[in-house]
Amino acid sequence: MEQRPVPGGTAEDGAHGAPVTTDPPRQREAAGDARRRIPRTDTLLRDPRLAEAVERLGAHRVKAAVRQAQERARAGGIPPEQVPRTALDLLPGTASGLRPVLNATGVLLHTNLGRAPLSAAARRAVQEAAGPTDVELDLTTGVRARRGRSALAALRDAVPVAGAAHVVNNGAAALVLAATALAAGKEIVVSRGEMVEIGDGFRLPDLLVSTGARLREVGTTNRTVPADYAAAVGPDTGFVLKVHPSNFRITGFTRSAEVADLTGLGVPVVVDIGSGLLAPHPALPDEPDADTQLRAGAALVTASGDKLLGGPQCGLLLGREDLVRALARHPLARALRVDKLTLAALEATLTGPPTPTALALTADPALLRARADRLAAGLAADGIDVVAVESAATVGGGGAPGVTLPSAALSLPEPYAAALRTGRVPVLGRLETGRCLLDLRAVPPRDDDRLAEAVRAARPAVEGRGR
Ligand SMILES: *Cc1c(COP(=O)(O)O)cnc(C)c1O
Repeated sequence: MEQRPVPGGTAEDGAHGAPVTTDPPRQREAAGDARRRIPRTDTLLRDPRLAEAVERLGAHRVKAAVRQAQERARAGGIPPEQVPRTALDLLPGTASGLRPVLNATGVLLHTNLGRAPLSAAARRAVQEAAGPTDVELDLTTGVRARRGRSALAALRDAVPVAGAAHVVNNGAAALVLAATALAAGKEIVVSRGEMVEIGDGFRLPDLLVSTGARLREVGTTNRTVPADYAAAVGPDTGFVLKVHPSNFRITGFTRSAEVADLTGLGVPVVVDIGSGLLAPHPALPDEPDADTQLRAGAALVTASGDKLLGGPQCGLLLGREDLVRALARHPLARALRVDKLTLAALEATLTGPPTPTALALTADPALLRARADRLAAGLAADGIDVVAVESAATVGGGGAPGVTLPSAALSLPEPYAAALRTGRVPVLGRLETGRCLLDLRAVPPRDDDRLAEAVRAARPAVEGRGR
């Protein structure tokens, strides 16, 4: 490997070191001695551990860490022998700023934590697709082929009632494509009870209007009946839209129309189910799914791939073949198309073993409690103030509002929350009645030991003997 001189590295050795002038002469001499023993940058970069880090993280980052460590030694903060170790400690664990974390919030699909974690099968598929692949080529004939055809075939297999399928970047993109291709310059008829904000200021009405479609609002916040839609549909209608209120519930004096009530109006019914359930889920009886909506007569269903489906971020479009084709051929489709990594992860999610999300959703509360008891016993034996408690997990913004899933958690003193979040393996818990709860429902069992290690590592900071 080529070793170029680094500015501020070997060349300036000692120039800015230890500016202290009040030391007695002997100490100054010792400090000067130590400074001379600080290894040079090129020597340090030949250390196998740092050389390996260059392969993983790039020379720029490693040299910066080496310089920082050398400066600490020059300032007398560490002995020269500790420079390599210090440089290694200063390096990030990953080549991107994204750090893997443990989700102990009890929120299965946490948008701030990247929603659904990928299955091992999907992770492998992503790795395999990372190099050159036949994403758009038929290897038998050598001719260009439909992009992502095997992922699309897997999606059709998963929802046989759908005439065709298309995949875009996310759920919002699926809606934008449908609105642009089917309703630009026309009206989208939608209930006032379904004009929702999904999160972080993302409002469906704003998104739909941005495509050039006009919204024709019908009904009221709490009640909309089929006749409201019928009265609004006319020659200007692009489609009727049903949106699943996926992050809130309106209860009491309410009424809404079913898809089956709206299919006779002579315009397509588009259903944004949000969560990406392809078929009914026994644990979530109120959550809409693609199969049921299409059977009820929906012309098109849109959904996210990284919510209850448990896959990568993407937007699914399923339904009538002529409509899906029109969307896929629309010029905007090119701007919303997914990359090969997404296609690979989606296919492996659809065809592979149950996803982490599916497993978390169906986890047996008794087993969660047994895991919590075992972890708490181990940590308490070390003198940590911890108990296993019952807990209530939720699906999260990704679906099933109002549903709580019985769970189990470790209960720790509140200061653990910050210490765990800022630890080497960041753990996200939640605060409840003055305690930090680490809910196990979204934590895969194989991560239990890492979780316990993180708690042990956080203890000194909590008990005031940190740093
Ligand atoms: C989550 C959600 C969306 C947005 O999907 P993204 O994949 O986040 O773009 C749209 N509609 C509903 C009903 C949702 O729940």
